[in-house]
Amino acid sequence: AALVGLGCGLAFGLTCGGVFSLRQRSGKEILTGINRGQFYPVYQPIVEAKSLKTAGVEVLLRWQHPSAGTIPPDAFISFAEAQNLIAPLTRHLFELIAADAPTLCTLLPEGTRLGINLAPGHLHSPAFKDDILRFSASLPKGHFQIVLEITERDMLKGEEAPALFDWLHRQGFEIAIDDFGTGHSALIYLERFQFDYLKIDRGFVNAIGQDTVTAPVLDAVLMLAERLNMTTVAEGVENAEQAKWLIDRGVNYLQGYWFSRPLTLMQLRRRESGNAQA
Ligand code: C2E
Ligand code: CA
Ligand code: CA
Ligand code: CA
Repeated sequence: AALVGLGCGLAFGLTCGGVFSLRQRSGKEILTGINRGQFYPVYQPIVEAKSLKTAGVEVLLRWQHPSAGTIPPDAFISFAEAQNLIAPLTRHLFELIAADAPTLCTLLPEGTRLGINLAPGHLHSPAFKDDILRFSASLPKGHFQIVLEITERDMLKGEEAPALFDWLHRQGFEIAIDDFGTGHSALIYLERFQFDYLKIDRGFVNAIGQDTVTAPVLDAVLMLAERLNMTTVAEGVENAEQAKWLIDRGVNYLQGYWFSRPLTLMQLRRRESGNAQA
């Protein structure tokens, strides 16, 4: 019970009474948040290693809660999933992105990757195919390449996942394995699932320059990615040393605070129009 209590506190920064009442209330709070426009997307640029130009953005969800302040996604995504609210929440995010899309188009050139995080509770739900097709159709035709980010931990859950991946590829979506290196899956899954991108977890990147074990491990991961025809993205790049190290080793794309924090649409506009003038 203590653990659950802590979870509640972390998730919402509110004191919780009974677990049941809190859950009911919080589930409702997510719906209220949707209806009152408390959620908004931020966009984190992903740069190409060679040119250091923005090649994509990852969409990250934020919740501006009226009393708890800005709640980070780690604190509410899994909760939304447990409440069976991840599909409505993700559909809502899709609408928010679609509303931003005309502006995004003016800032980001054709072919820019748009990374979307998917929770397994939505991915493996019956509504998913409809939802993702509708989302894709709501964006200006052909401008963005949608990349669906799925964590290593989550892909194991669906038995029919390889068929779903085939379907997604046929519809023109690309798929990234997210947080690579943090899960427990056998490497054999990588081949079976046909990922287009491998996102190296920031735990790895963080250890650069601090931990001697990391270099051979990362080299092995990069070799594996190349063999399996996956493009690599390093996450959580926070300083020039990490960026140089990763670029020297042939990582294809980089993402992290060193290049940019996740930005609201307005901040992105400032950044990208600044780049255009420079
Ligand atoms: P993620 O998919 O691994 O997203 C990257 C996280 O790393 C983001 O945290 C981002 O703000 C953070 N980050 C980026 N660069 C750096 C850096 O240089 N240093 C450090 N320390 N952190 C960096 P955020 O936005 O708090 O999101 C946390 C997680 O919540 C995401 O991890 C993702 O798993 C999940 N998430 C976010 N938005 C969504 C969503 O719309 N749907 C779903 N299902 N999950 C989401
Ligand atoms: Ca991600
Ligand atoms: Ca990640
Ligand atoms: Ca490929």
